[in-house]
Amino acid sequence: MVERVLQVAPTREVPDEVLASLASLRVTGTCKCGCGTLWFGPEGEASAGSILADGRGTADGRDMDLIVWFDQGAIVGLELVGDDARSMPDIDSIRPHDVA
Ligand SMILES: [Zn+2]
Repeated sequence: MVERVLQVAPTREVPDEVLASLASLRVTGTCKCGCGTLWFGPEGEASAGSILADGRGTADGRDMDLIVWFDQGAIVGLELVGDDARSMPDIDSIRPHDVA
């Protein structure tokens, strides 16, 4: 999922070592609001950083934004933003913002 967002909607160049790290990502926190956001960094849901990719996806007919957060050389989060963004979107639905 994270890899697909990085492929279709990067906001800047994604370093090779970051792509190589994807397979070893482990979830360290989830969002208390009930959305499907996942955190991977040592700080869990307190993770911050900069945006590495920002795209759109659809789950059960609902559109959402997908934001990949990056901090200190590592991916720390996959944030789902939207009404009722509780489940991960269909992988084939992930697209850049400028694609309907
Ligand atoms: Zn949330």
